[in-house]
Amino acid sequence: MSEMGADQEGIDGVRMTWNVWPRTKVEASKCVIPIAASVSPIRSHPDIPTLPYAPLRCKTCISLLNPFCRVDFAAKIWICPFCFQRNHFPHHYSMISESNLPGELYPQYTTVEYSLSNPGAVPDVAAPQSIPPVFLFVLDTCMIEEELGFVKSALKRAIGLLPENALVGFVSFGTQVQVHELGFSEISKVYVFRGSKEISKDQVLEQLGLGGAGRRAVGGYPKGVQNGYASSGVTRFLLPASDCEYTLNSLLDELQTDQWAVQPGHRALRCTGVALSVAAGLLGACLPGTGARIIALVGGPCTEGPGTIVSKDLSDPVRSHKDLDKDAAPYFKKAVQFYENIAKQMVSQGHVLDLFASALDQVGVAEMKVVVERTGGLVVLAESFGHSVFKDSFKRIFEEGEQSLGLSFK
Ligand SMILES: [Zn+2]
Repeated sequence: MSEMGADQEGIDGVRMTWNVWPRTKVEASKCVIPIAASVSPIRSHPDIPTLPYAPLRCKTCISLLNPFCRVDFAAKIWICPFCFQRNHFPHHYSMISESNLPGELYPQYTTVEYSLSNPGAVPDVAAPQSIPPVFLFVLDTCMIEEELGFVKSALKRAIGLLPENALVGFVSFGTQVQVHELGFSEISKVYVFRGSKEISKDQVLEQLGLGGAGRRAVGGYPKGVQNGYASSGVTRFLLPASDCEYTLNSLLDELQTDQWAVQPGHRALRCTGVALSVAAGLLGACLPGTGARIIALVGGPCTEGPGTIVSKDLSDPVRSHKDLDKDAAPYFKKAVQFYENIAKQMVSQGHVLDLFASALDQVGVAEMKVVVERTGGLVVLAESFGHSVFKDSFKRIFEEGEQSLGLSFK
C-alpha cells in the first residue's frame, strides 16, 4: 500500500524489512522475512521542521495531530487514527482549511519537532536540562603500539566533538588500573589500583579520597553540577570537555602500552573487571542518577583478577561455544556472576556501559554483556581499532548531526 522512500527513512528514522504492507493474512503468512521496523527516536535531520508551539493531543490516547489524521475542516474536527476519537480543534486553530494547514498536517511532515518557549507546558519530561552528558573513558593499554595509536586518535577526535560542557573522565588499565585526576593539570596525578583483587565500592572511594564528604546519595543530583561543579569528585575526576581537552590530549600523547612484562607463552595481564569496578564506583560517588556513560575500549580478554575469562597461559585456549554448551568453561560462571554485580550497581546508579572491543581473538563479551544489556549500552566489535567499523561507530556517539546517535547533544 504505502511506500516509504529512502529520504523519508532518513527523516523519520524508521527502517522496515518491507516497505509495502501485506493486505491479507495469507499474504502476510507468505512473507519469508517477517515485518519488522528499526526505529531511531530523537534522530536529528536538517529537513525536519521545527514548529514553535505545542502539539495538539488526542483527548483519549497520547497521540498527536499528524498528517495521517482525517480532518473535517467544516466541523473543525480531527479524528485520531489510533483510537478513532473525534477531537475538536481549539480556538486558535479556527482559521484552519484545506489551503491553510498547520505545519503538522503537511503530508510531507511525517516527523516534526516542537520547540516550546515554556518547557513547563510539557508534562512528564524526565531529564532535567541542567545535567550535561557525562563520559568516563576506560582504556585498555595491553595492546600493540599501533592499536594503541589508533584508539588514542579516535579518543582525541571524540573529545574534540563533545559539547563544551560535557563532563569527561579518564581511566586506563592493564595489569593495574590508573584513575587520572584531570582537574590536577600541573603534573599528571594518578591513583593506582591493583588488578588482581576484587575491590569493594567503599574501598574505591576511600582510595580516591571520595569517602564520606565526597560521597552522595544515589538518586540525588549533585549540587555541584548546577552551581560551579562544587562536588570534589566532579572537580577532580570529571571535568567539562572544554577545560580538560588539553590535559587529556597531552596525557594521551604520553600514554604508553602496559609496561608490565608479558612472559613468553603468556597472555598480557589485563584487569578489565577491576577497571570497570573502579569506574562504576567513581561515577556512583560523583554523578549518580545522571545517565552517565562508561565507554570501555578493550583490546583482549580479562586475565587478571575478578572477571577473568581465560588463564594467563597461551596454550590454554579461550572458551568456545562448544565449551559453553558443554558447561566446560571453568571461568565462565564466576565471571558472569562478577559482571552481574557490576550490572546491578550500575543500574541502581543510573549509569550505562558501552563496550568497544577490538581483537582477533575473543575479549569476553559473553561474560560482560550482562552489564551492557541491563544498562542499555552499546557493543561494537571490530578486529582493529584502525578499522572503519570501530572508527565510524565511535564517532557517531559523539558527533552532532544527521549520523549522530544523539547521545551527547540534546
Ligand atoms: Zn487517540
